[in-house]
Amino acid sequence: MSILPVFSSPDRIHKWEQSTEKMLASPVKILLIEDDLAQARLLQEILKDAKEKTFTLVHVQRLQEAISKLNSNYFDVVLLDLTLPDSHGLASLGPLNEYAPSIPIVVLTNTNDERLALEAVRQGAQDYLVKRQVNLDSLVRSLSYAIERKQNAENLRKSHENLAVQVKQQKEDLVKALEVNQLRAELVSMISHDFRNPLTTILLSTGLLEDHEQKLTNEQKIRQYQRIRGAIKDLTGLLDEILLVGKAEAGKLSCELVALALEPFCRKLVEELQLASNNNQELFFSSSGELNTGLWDKQLLKHILFNLLSNAIKYSPEGGLITLRLERKEEWLLIRVSDQGMGIPEADLQGLFEPFHRGENVDSIPGTGLGLAIVKNCVEVHGGTIQVSSKLGMGSTFKIMLPFREI
Ligand code: ADP
Repeated sequence: MSILPVFSSPDRIHKWEQSTEKMLASPVKILLIEDDLAQARLLQEILKDAKEKTFTLVHVQRLQEAISKLNSNYFDVVLLDLTLPDSHGLASLGPLNEYAPSIPIVVLTNTNDERLALEAVRQGAQDYLVKRQVNLDSLVRSLSYAIERKQNAENLRKSHENLAVQVKQQKEDLVKALEVNQLRAELVSMISHDFRNPLTTILLSTGLLEDHEQKLTNEQKIRQYQRIRGAIKDLTGLLDEILLVGKAEAGKLSCELVALALEPFCRKLVEELQLASNNNQELFFSSSGELNTGLWDKQLLKHILFNLLSNAIKYSPEGGLITLRLERKEEWLLIRVSDQGMGIPEADLQGLFEPFHRGENVDSIPGTGLGLAIVKNCVEVHGGTIQVSSKLGMGSTFKIMLPFREI
C-alpha cells in the first residue's frame, strides 16, 4: 500500500513529470535499514527488474550503522524497517531525521502495523509499504513519490527560510530608517532651538551698534562686538558638531594616522582649556610610560579630549578638580578623564552616547547632547573603546582604550 500524491493542476503534474524524468536518468541511491536478511534480498531482487530506472541499494541491519552511512554517503531515499535490533518502532525516525533531515524515508511495516505506519507518516516519513504486498510497481512508485514529495517540502522550507531572512532584513532597514528619521527630527528641533539664541544675540548687538553708534562709549561698543564674536563662535561650534555627527553617522569619518608626540599635545590642550575655564576649575595632567612614539589621528584625538574635558569643566562646580591621565599599557593607551562634578543619573548611562541624549540633571546648563556621540564615534574609528562610570553628586570618569600603533 502506498500514499499517492494528489495533483490538482496540469502545471503541477508537468513539474512532477519533469523532476521524475530527471530522477529516472541517474541511479536512485537507496539506504535499506532492515535486519531481516531474506526481506532485504527480496527487495534487492525486485529492484533488479526495474526497467525505466536503475537503483543502487546499500543494506544495513542496524540504526547505528545507518547513521554512520548517512554521515559519509549521499542517498536519495531511506527504506526503513520499524523493528530493528537497536531501535524499535517510531524511535528510529528521530535520529534519522536529525542526521539526514532532507532525505525522504519510506517505512516498511508488517501486515498488522497500519496504525504505526500512519503515525510514522504523521511524524515525517514520506510513505509506507506493507512488506508482503511489495511488488516492483508499488515499490518504484512509492520511492519516486517519496523523493518527489520530500523535494517539494525542502523547496518550501528553503523559500520559507529565504522569506524569513528577507523579512528580518526589511525589519532592520525599517528600524534604521526610523532611527534616521528620528535623528533628523531631533536635528531640526535642535537647529531651530539652539541656533536661535546666538542669532538673536547677533541681531540685537548689531541693531544696538547701528542705532546708537554715536551714544555708545568705546567700552560699550567693544562689549557688543565681543558678544557678536561669541555668538558667531557658538554658531560655528554648533555647525561643526552637527556636521561631524552627520559624517560619523554616515560612516564617513576616517582615521588618518601621523606621528605625534602625545604628551606635549595633551599638555597643550589642557593648558588651553585651563585658560578657557571660567569657573576656576583646576585641570591636572599626568602620564606614564613611553607615549611619544605612536601614530595618531590628531583631529580625532582632539575631538575626544576636547569634548571630555569641556564636559568635565561644564558639569563641575567652581574650583572642582579635573584630571586627564594617560597610561601606556603595552599595545594600548589608556586615557582617563575624571571630575568631581554633578555626576550622571544611572538611568541616563545607557543611552549617554546616543546623539542628543542629555542627562536629566543638567537643568539650565547649556548643551546639545552631541559631544559624547562625537567622542564615541572618534574612539571607534580609532579602533578603541569607551566606558563611563559615575556617581550622582560625586563625579564621573570616562575611560578610553586606544590601540597604540608604534611609528
Ligand atoms: P552636552 O554636554 O552638550 O549636553 P554631551 O553629548 O557632551 O552633550 O553629553 C551628554 C550628556 O552626558 C550631558 O548632557 C550630561 O548629562 C552628561 N555628561 C557628559 N559628561 C558629563 C560629566 N563629566 N559630568 C556629568 N554629566 C556629564
